[in-house]
Amino acid sequence: MSEVLNVEDIFASKVFTLGKMKERLPKSTYKEVKRVMDQGGELSLATADVVAKAMKDWAVENGATHYTHWFQPLTGITAEKHDAFVSHPDEEGKMIMEFSGKELIKGEPDASSFPSGGLRATFEARGYTAWDITSPAFLKEDATGVILCIPTAFCSYTGEALDKKTPLLRSMEAVSEQALRIVRLFGNTEATKVVASVGPEQEYFLVDREKYLQREDLIFAGRTLFGAPAPKGQELEDHYFGTIRERVGSYMKDLNIELWKLGVTAKTQHNEVAPAQHELAPIYETANIAVDHNQLVMETMKKVAGRHGMTCLLHEKPFAGVNGSGKHNNWSLGTDNGVNLLDPGATPNENIQFLLVLACIMKAVDTHADLLRQSASDVGNDHRLGANEAPPAIISMFLGEQLEDVVKQLVETGEASHLIEGGKLKTGVSTLPDFDKDATDRNRTSPFAFTGNKFEFRRVGSADSIASPNTTLNAIVAEAFCEAADILEKADDFDVAVHDLIKKYMTEHQRIIFNGNGYSDEWVAEAEKRGLPNIKSMVEAASTLTTDKAIKLFEKFGIFTRVELESREEVIYETYAKTINIEALTMIDMAGKKYIPAVMKYTKSLADTVIAVKEAGADASVQAEVLGEVSEKLAAAKAALTKLEKVTAEATAIEDVKAQAFFYKDSVKVVMDELRAPIDALEMIVDKSVWPVPSYGELTFEV
Ligand code: ADP
Ligand code: MG
Repeated sequence: MSEVLNVEDIFASKVFTLGKMKERLPKSTYKEVKRVMDQGGELSLATADVVAKAMKDWAVENGATHYTHWFQPLTGITAEKHDAFVSHPDEEGKMIMEFSGKELIKGEPDASSFPSGGLRATFEARGYTAWDITSPAFLKEDATGVILCIPTAFCSYTGEALDKKTPLLRSMEAVSEQALRIVRLFGNTEATKVVASVGPEQEYFLVDREKYLQREDLIFAGRTLFGAPAPKGQELEDHYFGTIRERVGSYMKDLNIELWKLGVTAKTQHNEVAPAQHELAPIYETANIAVDHNQLVMETMKKVAGRHGMTCLLHEKPFAGVNGSGKHNNWSLGTDNGVNLLDPGATPNENIQFLLVLACIMKAVDTHADLLRQSASDVGNDHRLGANEAPPAIISMFLGEQLEDVVKQLVETGEASHLIEGGKLKTGVSTLPDFDKDATDRNRTSPFAFTGNKFEFRRVGSADSIASPNTTLNAIVAEAFCEAADILEKADDFDVAVHDLIKKYMTEHQRIIFNGNGYSDEWVAEAEKRGLPNIKSMVEAASTLTTDKAIKLFEKFGIFTRVELESREEVIYETYAKTINIEALTMIDMAGKKYIPAVMKYTKSLADTVIAVKEAGADASVQAEVLGEVSEKLAAAKAALTKLEKVTAEATAIEDVKAQAFFYKDSVKVVMDELRAPIDALEMIVDKSVWPVPSYGELTFEV
């Protein structure tokens, strides 16, 4: 028998939970913390001092030597700068570990090296971090020791957001405020806020570390830049939900334990579609905590893999030809008195509220499809969106057959008097039917699908932060709620007004509903007819942030200023250009130093063979033919390599960031493909023993 693992005992053992605060803080301090947590505002410095001391004592008892303000710059990952709790020793040389309230609530990391777009030029480089009191502090333990991590937002001195967290928190406030107006209209006087909840399903690949270390492309780019397909891919569908291999199983076990200790509710695990691909899903929680936890999930996945002699690849497309990885972002809105706004509910009244919410979401998604698409774009995701394994770059909504039929009836007749599939009908006082949420069937190809009591945004890239998609979702829905509430609060006859508004929104925005196969070519054509945007790449999506429509939306709810949006657009171009540049340089390096030399050696041995066979008086035509073929591909590779060197140098010289990003997309990437093609072809014909790097088969089947 192995040691008994008690999950209840270890869960959140590394988190300074509310429970621990309650235990360790004086009652009045605890109450103030709880109040600020629930209602916002700031802690007084005196209170912060008391909290800081309790937090430090707990951390030190658990071995911590340092603390850090843990934040999420625009790199999409987290950042930390450790400070020891040490202070000036006294006369006798004794040092007492210290941590003040001021240090807890505010930090001043040097911000100058983080991407900030125009903000760096416009404002001071310095930034400060401010404690996000609603996300609990935790202990990170690794070779550095034990570090107390304080989740923070990161802003410039003049208040501009330099991170992904600040806008998210602002968007959560905005959607809460506007959603409250909606539930008030339906007589809910008890709710004091509406919380956005998120459950992200995280996909990842595991490869053997020794093999990983032999591939510069995996090391520098996080994905393979070369590689012929393995004889077997995912076509047998035998990996999806398949038996988990021993080595992977013991990894998953360790990963879960680490995550549970950090208070992450790791819940579901399974093998995914592609060989060596897996998934982990936690239970949903408040959006900002879900964002923090997803960062911890990604970080812990990488860390634990090392202990098992493996490397975790979070890239959206580590291997061409098999499925890439994404993140299904499950999102819903709930009041603090327990009503899920996306739950159809049991009474006609609740149903009307639900239908209004649905109509508003349809309006939001249709009006801002471009922004939603943008929110889920990163460099790696360009390989998925629009490619045939992932949802297309077109945003549409899936409602399920029954709900779609209700929308259709409402649009056509202004009433929904019956349910298909013989669901129960409870018209009651209203003209809207009661429906059964279990009747929402699944459509795996839709980018934005209603799944019973939540929407599942299936766009997000596996390596990306989920902050931006949730910020955008909250923002666009806040706007739709606000406009609806503006109308309904003034209505003389609420019942009639709400009915008319639902019909109006559903009619105006029904083009966003699509229940068919989102991967098909017909849909691309149909979407174009409907006028839905099909934005094909990350760089093309970037400018959606700074349209008048977007600026109006984000400024209205105080989520982003124009300047912040402009800076973010710039960061996108920079990030794109830099990433593709790294990929191109890695290809140049690998082709020039590994593939081409290896193949040249091989041609030499082939040539020797041809001569030897001929000398021996036998027919050397097969050997000569292979030599011819290999030499031809080698020449093509060399030519493409030279071209890639040239075009990459040209790209680096472009000064305008936007022009540069587009040049990388339209020119550099094309040549990268030109170089890849002959080398992948060579891999198929060259003697295996001379191939300089592990193959796709070795990487994905021999984990
Ligand atoms: P799937 O079949 O797509 O795997 P699950 O029911 O397992 O769906 O849920 C996937 C994710 O959705 C989980 O993280 C789960 O906690 C989350 N989830 C469930 N209900 C909600 C909700 N109301 N709001 C947000 N996320 C939710
Ligand atoms: Mg899902």
